[in-house]
Amino acid sequence: MVFLRSIINESTGGPHCEIEVLFRAAGDLPKRLGNLSAALSGQHLLQAKIYPLYAKCDAFYCALTMGQNGASMESVCQSIKEALGNDIISLKHKLVSASESAGRHEPTRYGSLDENGWATLLRSLASNFGTGAFSAICSTGLEMGSSRGIGLAQQNGCEDRFTLLMRGLDTLQGCGWGKYQLFKTGALPHNIEVRVFDNLECKAAMSVPRFENSFVRGYITGLLRSLLSDNIMVREERCIRKGDCYCSYVVE
Ligand SMILES: [Zn+2]
Repeated sequence: MVFLRSIINESTGGPHCEIEVLFRAAGDLPKRLGNLSAALSGQHLLQAKIYPLYAKCDAFYCALTMGQNGASMESVCQSIKEALGNDIISLKHKLVSASESAGRHEPTRYGSLDENGWATLLRSLASNFGTGAFSAICSTGLEMGSSRGIGLAQQNGCEDRFTLLMRGLDTLQGCGWGKYQLFKTGALPHNIEVRVFDNLECKAAMSVPRFENSFVRGYITGLLRSLLSDNIMVREERCIRKGDCYCSYVVE
């Protein structure tokens, strides 16, 4: 299993540079990532986000976005070269403006309900319309996920699908639905698992019976269908409602 992305720490102003590193993981990814973080520490970076994208052959692709505070991009790149040595396949960098960087990673917030608000809404829907109401919520999520995925693909046609998937999940996270982690569970594109921590919807649905067709499951399904394959089905394998520590969505 390859860890694709951690929960984001949002961000600061100031100039950003974006560095893309393609390097061989050669079966020891933790060591390579450890070397990478050691190289980046002490560089006066305001933030560094690592977006490992996919494992392909024995290579591991990784993009970094950094906020700089007087750090020289050249010296950062030099440190990365020294840390990864012959494992580096390519190293590219460019400056991006803070607003461009923020615009790409911090989606606009729209109105949203808190946990109690959601609990009230779900109970009310269930008592008025039965569990069919949950199917409607799931379908709504599916439509929104699809439309987000299609929009992302149209705006960024040539970008890696996993990057787009993360941006789609950023939107979900940015709107307060929970914090996600994305895992690669196998070699095929759809071998992925999305974990959602502090899942707003499942917290709200703790006392709602037969709540399976959630908005989040629909959204993730729609996103994956629009970015990877039309016939993807997503199952919520683990859930805080069953006593698990997080909710886990896997492709069947
Ligand atoms: Zn859940």
